[in-house]
Amino acid sequence: MDLAYNEEYVEFRAEVQAFLKANKSSAPKGRMGWGQADDKSRTWQQLLIKHGYAARTIPKEYGGFGAEPDILKNHIIAEEFAIAGVRPGHSGDPRLVPVVLELGTEEQKHALVGPTIRGDMVWCQGYSEPGSGSDLASLSTKAVLEGDEWVINGQKIWTSGAQHADMIFCLVRTEPDAPKHQGISYLIFKMDTPGIEVRPLVTMTGEAIFNETFFTDVRVPKDQIIGRRGEGWFVANATLKHERGSLGDPNQLEGRFRSLVEMLKSEKIDGKPLIEFPIYRDRLLKLQARVLSMKCNGMRILTANTKNEEPGLARWIVKLLGCELNHQMAALAIDVMGELGVLYEDSPYLRNYGMWQRNYMLDLGLIIGGGTAQIQKNMIGERALGLPKEPKYDAI
Ligand SMILES: Cc1cc2nc3c(=O)[nH]c(=O)nc-3n(C[C@H](O)[C@H](O)[C@H](O)COP(=O)(O)OP(=O)(O)OC[C@H]3O[C@@H](n4cnc5c(N)ncnc54)[C@H](O)[C@@H]3O)c2cc1C
Repeated sequence: MDLAYNEEYVEFRAEVQAFLKANKSSAPKGRMGWGQADDKSRTWQQLLIKHGYAARTIPKEYGGFGAEPDILKNHIIAEEFAIAGVRPGHSGDPRLVPVVLELGTEEQKHALVGPTIRGDMVWCQGYSEPGSGSDLASLSTKAVLEGDEWVINGQKIWTSGAQHADMIFCLVRTEPDAPKHQGISYLIFKMDTPGIEVRPLVTMTGEAIFNETFFTDVRVPKDQIIGRRGEGWFVANATLKHERGSLGDPNQLEGRFRSLVEMLKSEKIDGKPLIEFPIYRDRLLKLQARVLSMKCNGMRILTANTKNEEPGLARWIVKLLGCELNHQMAALAIDVMGELGVLYEDSPYLRNYGMWQRNYMLDLGLIIGGGTAQIQKNMIGERALGLPKEPKYDAI
Protein backbone atom coordinates (compact mmCIF):
# COMPACT_ATOMS: atom_id res chain seq x y z
CA MET A 1 0.00 0.00 0.00
CA ASP A 2 1.37 3.45 -0.94
CA LEU A 3 0.90 5.60 2.14
CA ALA A 4 2.28 8.82 0.62
CA TYR A 5 -0.19 11.64 -0.03
CA ASN A 6 -0.04 13.57 -3.29
CA GLU A 7 0.47 17.33 -3.46
CA GLU A 8 -3.24 18.19 -3.19
CA TYR A 9 -3.49 16.36 0.14
CA VAL A 10 -0.19 17.74 1.44
CA GLU A 11 -1.55 21.25 0.78
CA PHE A 12 -4.87 20.36 2.37
CA ARG A 13 -3.12 19.12 5.50
CA ALA A 14 -1.18 22.40 5.70
CA GLU A 15 -4.48 24.29 5.44
CA VAL A 16 -6.00 22.31 8.31
CA GLN A 17 -2.88 22.85 10.41
CA ALA A 18 -2.98 26.62 9.74
CA PHE A 19 -6.66 26.74 10.69
CA LEU A 20 -5.97 24.91 13.93
CA LYS A 21 -3.04 27.16 14.79
CA ALA A 22 -5.14 30.27 14.27
CA ASN A 23 -8.32 29.03 15.98
CA LYS A 24 -7.26 26.46 18.55
CA SER A 25 -7.78 28.92 21.40
CA SER A 26 -11.52 29.27 20.59
CA ALA A 27 -12.14 25.52 20.75
CA PRO A 28 -14.30 24.44 23.70
CA LYS A 29 -12.40 22.56 26.38
CA GLY A 30 -13.37 20.13 29.03
CA ARG A 31 -16.44 18.09 28.92
CA MET A 32 -19.96 18.42 27.77
CA GLY A 33 -22.64 16.21 29.30
CA TRP A 34 -24.32 13.67 27.05
CA GLY A 35 -26.66 15.38 24.60
CA GLN A 36 -25.88 18.88 25.90
CA ALA A 37 -24.56 21.78 23.87
CA ASP A 38 -23.59 25.23 25.17
CA ASP A 39 -23.13 28.46 23.21
CA LYS A 40 -19.37 28.00 22.94
CA SER A 41 -19.75 24.51 21.42
CA ARG A 42 -22.37 25.77 18.99
CA THR A 43 -20.20 28.72 17.89
CA TRP A 44 -17.22 26.39 17.45
CA GLN A 45 -19.29 23.93 15.43
CA GLN A 46 -20.56 26.72 13.18
CA LEU A 47 -17.01 27.94 12.56
CA LEU A 48 -16.00 24.40 11.61
CA ILE A 49 -18.94 24.03 9.23
CA LYS A 50 -18.04 27.35 7.60
CA HIS A 51 -14.48 26.11 6.93
CA GLY A 52 -15.53 22.62 5.91
CA TYR A 53 -14.17 20.80 8.96
CA ALA A 54 -17.60 19.71 10.15
CA ALA A 55 -20.67 18.56 8.17
CA ARG A 56 -18.23 18.61 5.27
CA THR A 57 -20.10 16.56 2.73
CA ILE A 58 -23.61 17.51 3.79
CA PRO A 59 -25.17 19.46 0.91
CA LYS A 60 -25.27 23.25 1.29
CA GLU A 61 -29.06 23.34 0.86
CA TYR A 62 -29.41 21.33 4.08
CA GLY A 63 -26.94 23.53 6.00
CA GLY A 64 -23.67 21.67 5.44
CA PHE A 65 -20.42 22.71 3.75
CA GLY A 66 -21.26 20.90 0.52
CA ALA A 67 -17.86 19.40 -0.39
CA GLU A 68 -17.50 16.40 -2.66
CA PRO A 69 -16.93 13.22 -0.62
CA ASP A 70 -13.19 12.66 -0.17
CA ILE A 71 -12.32 10.02 2.39
CA LEU A 72 -8.66 11.02 2.54
CA LYS A 73 -9.49 14.65 3.35
CA ASN A 74 -11.84 13.48 6.12
CA HIS A 75 -9.04 11.33 7.44
CA ILE A 76 -6.56 14.24 7.38
CA ILE A 77 -9.01 16.49 9.26
CA ALA A 78 -9.63 13.85 11.94
CA GLU A 79 -5.92 13.14 12.29
CA GLU A 80 -4.88 16.81 12.58
CA PHE A 81 -7.61 17.61 15.13
CA ALA A 82 -6.51 14.60 17.18
CA ILE A 83 -2.83 15.65 17.02
CA ALA A 84 -3.72 19.21 18.06
CA GLY A 85 -5.87 17.86 20.91
CA VAL A 86 -8.77 20.00 19.67
CA ARG A 87 -12.38 18.94 20.01
CA PRO A 88 -13.43 17.90 16.48
CA GLY A 89 -16.62 19.02 14.80
CA HIS A 90 -19.42 16.67 13.92
CA SER A 91 -22.04 16.14 11.27
CA GLY A 92 -24.93 16.32 13.69
CA ASP A 93 -26.15 13.28 15.57
CA PRO A 94 -24.12 10.50 13.88
CA ARG A 95 -26.98 8.02 14.32
CA LEU A 96 -29.70 10.17 12.82
CA VAL A 97 -28.41 12.62 10.20
CA PRO A 98 -27.07 9.99 7.75
CA VAL A 99 -30.41 8.18 8.00
CA VAL A 100 -32.45 11.32 7.30
CA LEU A 101 -30.20 12.08 4.32
CA GLU A 102 -30.50 8.51 3.05
CA LEU A 103 -34.15 7.73 3.75
CA GLY A 104 -35.93 10.96 4.78
CA THR A 105 -38.25 13.04 2.60
CA GLU A 106 -37.06 16.31 1.09
CA GLU A 107 -39.13 18.19 3.68
CA GLN A 108 -37.54 16.22 6.54
CA LYS A 109 -34.03 16.89 5.21
CA HIS A 110 -34.70 20.64 5.12
CA ALA A 111 -36.38 20.76 8.53
CA LEU A 112 -34.03 18.47 10.49
CA VAL A 113 -30.50 18.37 9.12
CA GLY A 114 -29.48 22.07 9.43
CA PRO A 115 -30.58 22.60 13.06
CA THR A 116 -29.11 19.21 14.05
CA ILE A 117 -25.65 19.82 12.60
CA ARG A 118 -25.53 23.30 14.13
CA GLY A 119 -26.34 21.85 17.56
CA ASP A 120 -29.69 23.66 17.80
CA MET A 121 -31.71 20.43 17.71
CA VAL A 122 -30.57 17.69 20.09
CA TRP A 123 -31.81 14.11 19.68
CA CYS A 124 -32.20 11.04 21.81
CA GLN A 125 -32.63 7.43 20.75
CA GLY A 126 -35.73 5.53 21.84
CA TYR A 127 -34.85 1.92 21.06
CA SER A 128 -34.31 -0.19 24.20
CA GLU A 129 -37.14 -1.26 26.46
CA PRO A 130 -37.24 -3.26 29.66
CA GLY A 131 -36.93 -6.78 28.23
CA SER A 132 -35.94 -5.65 24.71
CA GLY A 133 -32.25 -4.77 24.52
CA SER A 134 -30.13 -7.24 22.57
CA ASP A 135 -33.34 -8.72 21.19
CA LEU A 136 -34.49 -5.27 20.11
CA ALA A 137 -37.02 -6.53 17.57
CA SER A 138 -39.18 -7.85 20.41
CA LEU A 139 -40.03 -4.26 21.47
CA SER A 140 -43.59 -3.59 22.49
CA THR A 141 -44.14 0.20 22.71
CA LYS A 142 -47.07 0.55 20.35
CA ALA A 143 -48.39 3.24 18.04
CA VAL A 144 -51.90 3.13 16.63
CA LEU A 145 -52.98 5.34 13.74
CA GLU A 146 -56.04 7.43 14.67
CA GLY A 147 -57.01 9.77 11.84
CA ASP A 148 -53.93 11.82 11.01
CA GLU A 149 -52.07 10.99 14.19
CA TRP A 150 -50.11 8.16 15.75
CA VAL A 151 -51.08 7.52 19.34
CA ILE A 152 -48.12 6.09 21.25
CA ASN A 153 -48.17 4.12 24.51
CA GLY A 154 -45.35 2.27 26.22
CA GLN A 155 -41.92 2.67 27.77
CA LYS A 156 -38.31 3.05 26.70
CA ILE A 157 -35.27 2.69 28.93
CA TRP A 158 -31.60 3.75 28.88
CA THR A 159 -32.60 6.75 26.75
CA SER A 160 -29.31 8.68 26.92
CA GLY A 161 -29.71 12.44 27.13
CA ALA A 162 -33.53 12.33 26.94
CA GLN A 163 -33.73 14.98 29.67
CA HIS A 164 -31.88 17.47 27.42
CA ALA A 165 -33.17 16.36 24.02
CA ASP A 166 -35.46 18.37 21.76
CA MET A 167 -36.40 15.38 19.62
CA ILE A 168 -36.49 11.59 19.74
CA PHE A 169 -36.16 8.94 17.04
CA CYS A 170 -38.22 6.10 18.36
CA LEU A 171 -39.03 2.53 17.38
CA VAL A 172 -42.66 1.56 17.88
CA ARG A 173 -44.76 -1.47 17.00
CA THR A 174 -47.39 -0.43 14.44
CA GLU A 175 -48.33 -3.83 12.98
CA PRO A 176 -48.93 -6.12 15.97
CA ASP A 177 -49.90 -9.08 13.76
CA ALA A 178 -46.84 -8.99 11.51
CA PRO A 179 -43.66 -11.05 12.25
CA LYS A 180 -41.64 -9.15 14.85
CA HIS A 181 -39.07 -7.62 12.47
CA GLN A 182 -41.76 -6.43 10.07
CA GLY A 183 -44.14 -4.78 12.51
CA ILE A 184 -41.97 -1.84 13.56
CA SER A 185 -42.00 1.81 12.44
CA TYR A 186 -39.46 4.59 13.00
CA LEU A 187 -41.17 7.73 14.31
CA ILE A 188 -39.61 11.11 15.09
CA PHE A 189 -41.21 13.62 17.42
CA LYS A 190 -40.65 16.47 19.84
CA MET A 191 -39.77 15.63 23.41
CA ASP A 192 -42.16 18.28 24.76
CA THR A 193 -45.16 16.54 23.20
CA PRO A 194 -47.83 16.06 25.90
CA GLY A 195 -47.83 12.54 27.40
CA ILE A 196 -44.03 12.08 27.53
CA GLU A 197 -42.48 11.65 30.95
CA VAL A 198 -38.72 11.43 31.39
CA ARG A 199 -37.36 9.97 34.62
CA PRO A 200 -33.57 10.25 35.00
CA LEU A 201 -31.68 7.16 36.19
CA VAL A 202 -28.75 8.08 38.41
CA THR A 203 -25.82 5.70 37.92
CA MET A 204 -23.00 4.91 40.35
CA THR A 205 -21.01 7.88 38.98
CA GLY A 206 -23.66 10.11 40.57
CA GLU A 207 -24.68 11.36 37.13
CA ALA A 208 -27.91 10.76 35.27
CA ILE A 209 -26.94 10.04 31.67
CA PHE A 210 -29.78 7.61 31.10
CA ASN A 211 -33.50 7.91 31.54
CA GLU A 212 -36.66 5.93 31.56
CA THR A 213 -39.04 7.48 29.05
CA PHE A 214 -42.75 6.85 29.35
CA PHE A 215 -45.37 7.49 26.66
CA THR A 216 -49.03 7.86 27.56
CA ASP A 217 -51.35 8.65 24.64
CA VAL A 218 -48.66 10.69 22.93
CA ARG A 219 -50.08 12.13 19.70
CA VAL A 220 -47.71 12.53 16.77
CA PRO A 221 -48.61 13.71 13.26
CA LYS A 222 -48.85 10.81 10.81
CA ASP A 223 -46.06 12.08 8.52
CA GLN A 224 -43.42 12.12 11.28
CA ILE A 225 -42.06 8.78 10.20
CA ILE A 226 -38.80 7.92 8.48
CA GLY A 227 -39.14 5.27 5.81
CA ARG A 228 -42.41 3.47 5.33
CA ARG A 229 -44.79 2.10 7.93
CA GLY A 230 -43.65 -1.36 9.10
CA GLU A 231 -40.12 -0.83 7.69
CA GLY A 232 -38.63 0.66 10.84
CA TRP A 233 -36.34 -2.34 11.39
CA PHE A 234 -34.51 -1.55 8.17
CA VAL A 235 -34.20 2.15 9.18
CA ALA A 236 -33.07 1.18 12.71
CA ASN A 237 -30.30 -0.99 11.33
CA ALA A 238 -29.10 1.85 9.12
CA THR A 239 -28.92 4.01 12.28
CA LEU A 240 -27.04 1.31 14.22
CA LYS A 241 -24.48 0.87 11.44
CA HIS A 242 -23.61 4.59 11.71
CA GLU A 243 -23.61 4.47 15.51
CA ARG A 244 -21.22 1.50 15.64
CA GLY A 245 -18.92 3.09 13.05
CA SER A 246 -18.67 6.21 15.20
CA LEU A 247 -17.77 4.23 18.36
CA GLY A 248 -14.15 3.03 18.44
CA ASP A 249 -12.87 5.48 15.80
CA PRO A 250 -9.07 4.91 15.39
CA ASN A 251 -8.27 8.66 15.32
CA GLN A 252 -9.96 9.07 18.64
CA LEU A 253 -8.01 6.06 20.00
CA GLU A 254 -4.74 7.66 18.93
CA GLY A 255 -5.73 10.99 20.46
CA ARG A 256 -6.49 9.30 23.73
CA PHE A 257 -3.22 7.35 23.64
CA ARG A 258 -1.31 10.61 23.19
CA SER A 259 -3.04 12.13 26.22
CA LEU A 260 -2.16 9.01 28.21
CA VAL A 261 1.53 9.31 27.29
CA GLU A 262 1.51 13.00 28.21
CA MET A 263 -0.06 12.22 31.55
CA LEU A 264 2.54 9.51 32.28
CA LYS A 265 5.28 11.99 31.46
CA SER A 266 3.93 14.83 33.57
CA GLU A 267 2.84 12.92 36.70
CA LYS A 268 5.68 11.94 39.00
CA ILE A 269 6.42 9.75 41.98
CA ASP A 270 9.32 11.08 44.08
CA GLY A 271 10.29 13.33 41.17
CA LYS A 272 10.45 10.45 38.68
CA PRO A 273 7.97 10.56 35.74
CA LEU A 274 5.56 7.62 35.77
CA ILE A 275 6.56 6.67 32.24
CA GLU A 276 9.95 5.64 33.56
CA PHE A 277 8.49 2.91 35.78
CA PRO A 278 8.83 -0.43 33.91
CA ILE A 279 5.55 -1.75 35.28
CA TYR A 280 3.55 1.14 33.69
CA ARG A 281 5.73 1.33 30.59
CA ASP A 282 5.08 -2.34 29.88
CA ARG A 283 1.29 -1.83 29.97
CA LEU A 284 1.64 1.31 27.90
CA LEU A 285 3.61 -0.47 25.18
CA LYS A 286 1.03 -3.26 24.95
CA LEU A 287 -1.69 -0.66 24.52
CA GLN A 288 0.37 1.22 21.94
CA ALA A 289 0.69 -1.96 19.87
CA ARG A 290 -3.09 -2.35 19.91
CA VAL A 291 -3.70 1.31 19.07
CA LEU A 292 -1.34 1.00 16.11
CA SER A 293 -3.02 -2.17 14.91
CA MET A 294 -6.41 -0.39 15.06
CA LYS A 295 -4.85 2.43 13.05
CA CYS A 296 -3.73 -0.10 10.40
CA ASN A 297 -7.22 -1.58 10.46
CA GLY A 298 -8.59 1.94 9.92
CA MET A 299 -6.30 2.27 6.86
CA ARG A 300 -7.67 -1.03 5.56
CA ILE A 301 -11.20 0.32 5.83
CA LEU A 302 -10.10 3.56 4.21
CA THR A 303 -8.48 1.67 1.32
CA ALA A 304 -11.59 -0.46 0.79
CA ASN A 305 -13.81 2.64 0.89
CA THR A 306 -11.68 4.51 -1.66
CA LYS A 307 -12.08 1.51 -4.00
CA ASN A 308 -15.81 1.25 -3.27
CA GLU A 309 -15.27 -2.19 -1.77
CA GLU A 310 -16.94 -3.63 1.34
CA PRO A 311 -14.30 -3.69 4.17
CA GLY A 312 -15.85 -6.86 5.67
CA LEU A 313 -14.20 -8.12 8.86
CA ALA A 314 -12.16 -4.90 9.22
CA ARG A 315 -15.38 -2.94 9.73
CA TRP A 316 -17.07 -5.47 12.02
CA ILE A 317 -14.30 -5.43 14.62
CA VAL A 318 -14.12 -1.62 15.08
CA LYS A 319 -16.85 -1.19 17.69
CA LEU A 320 -15.87 -4.21 19.78
CA LEU A 321 -12.11 -3.68 19.86
CA GLY A 322 -12.16 0.13 19.80
CA CYS A 323 -14.47 0.40 22.83
CA GLU A 324 -12.52 -2.24 24.78
CA LEU A 325 -9.24 -0.49 24.02
CA ASN A 326 -10.59 2.90 25.09
CA HIS A 327 -11.61 1.35 28.38
CA GLN A 328 -8.19 -0.29 28.89
CA MET A 329 -6.46 3.06 28.32
CA ALA A 330 -8.68 4.76 30.88
CA ALA A 331 -7.99 1.85 33.27
CA LEU A 332 -4.22 2.37 33.00
CA ALA A 333 -4.67 6.10 33.61
CA ILE A 334 -6.74 5.46 36.73
CA ASP A 335 -4.21 2.93 38.05
CA VAL A 336 -1.20 5.18 37.60
CA MET A 337 -2.93 8.20 39.09
CA GLY A 338 -3.35 6.38 42.39
CA GLU A 339 -5.38 8.48 44.82
CA LEU A 340 -5.86 11.20 42.17
CA GLY A 341 -7.70 8.62 40.09
CA VAL A 342 -10.62 8.44 42.48
CA LEU A 343 -11.30 12.19 42.60
CA TYR A 344 -14.48 13.52 41.06
CA GLU A 345 -16.15 16.81 40.22
CA ASP A 346 -14.54 19.99 41.52
CA SER A 347 -11.43 18.77 43.29
CA PRO A 348 -8.53 21.19 42.70
CA TYR A 349 -6.30 18.14 42.15
CA LEU A 350 -8.41 16.82 39.28
CA ARG A 351 -6.34 16.05 36.17
CA ASN A 352 -7.67 16.70 32.64
CA TYR A 353 -11.02 17.87 34.05
CA GLY A 354 -11.56 14.37 35.48
CA MET A 355 -11.60 12.95 31.95
CA TRP A 356 -10.01 9.60 32.85
CA GLN A 357 -12.41 8.83 35.67
CA ARG A 358 -15.39 9.68 33.50
CA ASN A 359 -14.10 7.80 30.49
CA TYR A 360 -13.42 4.73 32.60
CA MET A 361 -17.08 4.51 33.57
CA LEU A 362 -18.52 5.72 30.26
CA ASP A 363 -16.43 3.34 28.15
CA LEU A 364 -17.54 0.44 30.25
CA GLY A 365 -21.05 1.46 29.22
CA LEU A 366 -20.13 1.85 25.57
CA ILE A 367 -18.94 -1.78 25.51
CA ILE A 368 -22.65 -2.50 26.11
CA GLY A 369 -24.46 0.40 24.35
CA GLY A 370 -25.04 0.18 20.59
CA GLY A 371 -24.90 -3.66 20.87
CA THR A 372 -23.04 -5.53 23.61
CA ALA A 373 -19.59 -7.09 23.18
CA GLN A 374 -21.18 -10.57 23.12
CA ILE A 375 -23.59 -9.54 20.38
CA GLN A 376 -20.70 -7.97 18.42
CA LYS A 377 -18.83 -11.28 18.71
CA ASN A 378 -21.88 -13.16 17.43
CA MET A 379 -22.07 -10.81 14.46
CA ILE A 380 -18.35 -11.11 13.72
CA GLY A 381 -18.64 -14.90 13.87
CA GLU A 382 -21.77 -15.21 11.79
CA ARG A 383 -21.64 -12.31 9.34
CA ALA A 384 -17.91 -11.68 8.88
CA LEU A 385 -16.39 -15.15 9.39
CA GLY A 386 -19.33 -17.15 8.02
CA LEU A 387 -19.59 -19.41 11.09
CA PRO A 388 -22.87 -21.23 11.72
CA LYS A 389 -25.56 -19.26 13.54
CA GLU A 390 -25.85 -19.87 17.28
CA PRO A 391 -28.86 -22.05 18.10
CA LYS A 392 -31.92 -20.10 19.24
CA TYR A 393 -33.36 -21.51 22.43
CA ASP A 394 -36.96 -21.33 21.11
CA ALA A 395 -35.92 -23.38 18.05
CA ILE A 396 -34.30 -26.20 20.05
C1 LIG B 1 -23.75 3.80 27.72
C2 LIG B 1 -25.05 3.28 27.16
C3 LIG B 1 -25.84 4.13 26.40
C4 LIG B 1 -27.07 3.65 25.92
N1 LIG B 1 -27.88 4.53 25.23
C5 LIG B 1 -29.05 4.09 24.77
C6 LIG B 1 -29.93 5.02 24.10
O1 LIG B 1 -29.64 6.21 23.97
N2 LIG B 1 -31.10 4.56 23.63
C7 LIG B 1 -31.46 3.24 23.74
O2 LIG B 1 -32.51 2.89 23.24
N3 LIG B 1 -30.67 2.35 24.41
C8 LIG B 1 -29.48 2.75 24.93
N4 LIG B 1 -28.67 1.87 25.63
C9 LIG B 1 -29.14 0.50 25.86
C10 LIG B 1 -28.36 -0.53 25.08
O3 LIG B 1 -28.67 -0.49 23.72
C11 LIG B 1 -28.69 -1.89 25.71
O4 LIG B 1 -28.18 -1.87 27.04
C12 LIG B 1 -28.03 -3.04 24.96
O5 LIG B 1 -28.61 -3.20 23.69
C13 LIG B 1 -28.16 -4.36 25.74
O6 LIG B 1 -29.48 -4.60 26.11
P1 LIG B 1 -29.87 -4.95 27.63
O7 LIG B 1 -29.26 -3.91 28.51
O8 LIG B 1 -31.33 -5.13 27.68
O9 LIG B 1 -29.12 -6.31 27.94
P2 LIG B 1 -29.61 -7.78 27.55
O10 LIG B 1 -29.99 -7.80 26.11
O11 LIG B 1 -30.61 -8.23 28.54
O12 LIG B 1 -28.27 -8.61 27.74
C14 LIG B 1 -27.82 -9.06 29.02
C15 LIG B 1 -26.54 -9.85 28.79
O13 LIG B 1 -26.82 -11.02 27.98
C16 LIG B 1 -25.99 -11.04 26.83
N5 LIG B 1 -26.72 -11.57 25.68
C17 LIG B 1 -27.98 -11.24 25.29
N6 LIG B 1 -28.32 -11.91 24.16
C18 LIG B 1 -27.24 -12.66 23.83
C19 LIG B 1 -26.95 -13.57 22.75
N7 LIG B 1 -27.84 -13.83 21.79
N8 LIG B 1 -25.73 -14.15 22.72
C20 LIG B 1 -24.79 -13.89 23.69
N9 LIG B 1 -25.02 -13.05 24.74
C21 LIG B 1 -26.20 -12.45 24.80
C22 LIG B 1 -25.59 -9.58 26.59
O14 LIG B 1 -24.38 -9.49 25.86
C23 LIG B 1 -25.47 -9.06 28.02
O15 LIG B 1 -24.21 -9.37 28.53
C24 LIG B 1 -27.47 2.32 26.15
C25 LIG B 1 -26.67 1.48 26.93
C26 LIG B 1 -25.48 1.95 27.45
C27 LIG B 1 -24.69 1.04 28.31
